[in-house]
Amino acid sequence: MKTRESLPGPKPVGTWLVSTRHWVRCVADDGSVERPYGVKHAREPGRGLSACGEFAVDWRIFWGMNFTSEDPDACPACRAVVNKVQTRQSA
Ligand SMILES: [Zn+2]
Repeated sequence: MKTRESLPGPKPVGTWLVSTRHWVRCVADDGSVERPYGVKHAREPGRGLSACGEFAVDWRIFWGMNFTSEDPDACPACRAVVNKVQTRQSA
């Protein structure tokens, strides 16, 4: 019977991307870049809902930007879902 509460360490998340309702366009040296603005939600590619269950079809998905629960701007509900899924997968 395993009742270990603390896991050795967080595993990297591959399938949760950052998705936001709003974003801003920043001008960098190599062109314009879109950056998330406000609360960052977690979203699986191809899904119309965020991890916390928000209707996210017209939100921006930031490909290549993985959702991390350590991000201070991360949605608390999404963070809880992602952490739960990670724990289940690594069990
Ligand atoms: Zn969320």
